[in-house]
Amino acid sequence: MAQMQIVIPNLGSFADVSVIDVLVAVGDRIEIDTPLITLETDKATMDVPSPASGRVLKLLVAKGDKVSHGSVIADLQLDESGAPTVPIQVAAPAPAPAAVATAAAAVAPAAPAVAADRHVKLLVLGGGPGGYTAAFRAADLGQPVLLVERWPMLGGVCLNVGCIPSKSLLHVAKVLDDARDLVAQGVSFGTPQMDFEKLRGWKNAIVKKLTSGLTTLARQRKVEVLQGVGRFVSPHVIEVSRDSQRQRISFDHCIIAVGSEAVKLPLSPHDARLMDSTGALDLTEVPRRLLVIGGGIIGLEMACVYSALGSRVSVVELSNQLIPGCDADLVRPLEKRIKARYEQVLVGVKVAAIAARSAGLDVSFEGKGAPAAQRYDRVLVAVGRTPNGKLISADAAGIAVDERGFIAVDKQQRTNVAHIYAIGDVVGQPMLAHKATHEAKVAAEVVAGHKSAFDARAIPSVAYTDPEIAWVGLTETQARAQGTPFEKGQFPWAASGRALSQGREEGFTKLLFEPTTRRVLGGGIVGPNAGELIAEVGLAIEMGADAMDIGLTVHAHPTLSETVAMSAEAFAGTLTDLYLPGKR
Ligand code: FAD
Repeated sequence: MAQMQIVIPNLGSFADVSVIDVLVAVGDRIEIDTPLITLETDKATMDVPSPASGRVLKLLVAKGDKVSHGSVIADLQLDESGAPTVPIQVAAPAPAPAAVATAAAAVAPAAPAVAADRHVKLLVLGGGPGGYTAAFRAADLGQPVLLVERWPMLGGVCLNVGCIPSKSLLHVAKVLDDARDLVAQGVSFGTPQMDFEKLRGWKNAIVKKLTSGLTTLARQRKVEVLQGVGRFVSPHVIEVSRDSQRQRISFDHCIIAVGSEAVKLPLSPHDARLMDSTGALDLTEVPRRLLVIGGGIIGLEMACVYSALGSRVSVVELSNQLIPGCDADLVRPLEKRIKARYEQVLVGVKVAAIAARSAGLDVSFEGKGAPAAQRYDRVLVAVGRTPNGKLISADAAGIAVDERGFIAVDKQQRTNVAHIYAIGDVVGQPMLAHKATHEAKVAAEVVAGHKSAFDARAIPSVAYTDPEIAWVGLTETQARAQGTPFEKGQFPWAASGRALSQGREEGFTKLLFEPTTRRVLGGGIVGPNAGELIAEVGLAIEMGADAMDIGLTVHAHPTLSETVAMSAEAFAGTLTDLYLPGKR
């Protein structure tokens, strides 16, 4: 088989550059673009990717060596298809305002060099939880950063039209529902008087406080924020446009954090009464009858808000369970509660058509148990989110984007183009802010030359409905599907003094354990505050805690958190708050 010598490409004006890491070993099989070594100049660190695929026969550099253009890195036994097609080049780190040729350009289909108006070391595209966290972390590690965001405020979906406004309204909904439920304890307040203008103003003020706080944090860190829509024009250049203005910015590294947007239903009419979650959070009116299409977390949270504010709510979900992906037993207490309060909760039912009429939106349904067509004042479409990977001309940089718009990354958040990283919703499920921020820190640290990797054992999911549902790690559904052995410890909140004193005994806590090591594999909680309580289970999974670690940790009494310890005791056979024959 043919062999080749891989040499240090043209480094511009740099010579005698330090090798700070060797990323492959003799015998390794490598692909085109696999990073081989990391170089460091006084301006930047950069990886040298392989121009061919094959097996490393000999390494001719070591950590600490100094190299220049032409120094031999390794001997490679080429795969039959592994011959390089274009000569490899590495970007001269800085300053290189124009005509930047790149490593990726060398392996991607011979992209012509593209002139730029200015050069930055790190460009972060998108200012949501992923983007601003990456920018801030990189700045804290000494990297000069340009953060490009199309919206006037930082914070992305999460702060502007997602997590924060929805939780503000859910708080109000919870207080309203709790006040109404107090009737059972002999207290009634009468019909609440609502000033929607004031409520909307309060919610918007919370968003503004947080987003303007981000602007201050960016300024304090000297992160430059540029408003405009960015798209790739080459592997090392992004064009940012705002109104009729355009500028081309070249970069050494880029972190893509462009997030996702709501999926639109095909063939739905253009009508202001047909809303997505952003429209629903706007709270322009409280419709008399509201249909929520999609029984996932976002749909059910908004259903919760509008029901508490006075709408007659119906929910329709295509699959056979609300919150698909969550264990069915965790969903049941929520389903029972909302079935008693909402007009209709339909599962396994499809929306067949929506027609806009002056008096409302006429919706027809299909499927077993589908009702006759109904008229609603408003319809909220919450059928999922789609990644924005197809909207940034990623192909101009040679970045692989799948047919759904997701960008694949490795554990260091690197895309298939070695100097371009991606994080957050655009890289895959779960589309959650806390996943985005953790990935962001990894990407920023790798850009800064750290050996970081995204290695979370578990990522929690929370539905902030009433009751809340939270789960983390292995679910029972996954365990059964994968054939993973597990044993369960469960504690019903009907036996929790704290839950009873809150008038909320429908919840429960469950933990899944590995039968031999007795370590926690996963857990689920349903009941008020489940979203807060799940943190202990997440920590237990990360720390490799077993049932005794949790059961022997003294939890305050009376708290809902005791139910986590009691689930562990139920599994260990030490629980005294219940009588579990066969478990003593
Ligand atoms: P985003 O927040 O989507 O940010 C991407 C940013 O990139 C945006 O600001 C966008 O304007 C910008 N951008 C996109 N393309 C370009 C471009 N070409 N040029 C310049 N800028 C660009 N998650 C939770 O963890 N907890 C919750 O409680 C929660 N509640 C939610 C409630 C709702 C109603 C919604 C819709 C989502 C919720 N999420 C929640 C999901 C959460 O908002 C996302 O997972 C999170 O925002 C993803 O962060 P991100 O940085 O990847 O992307």
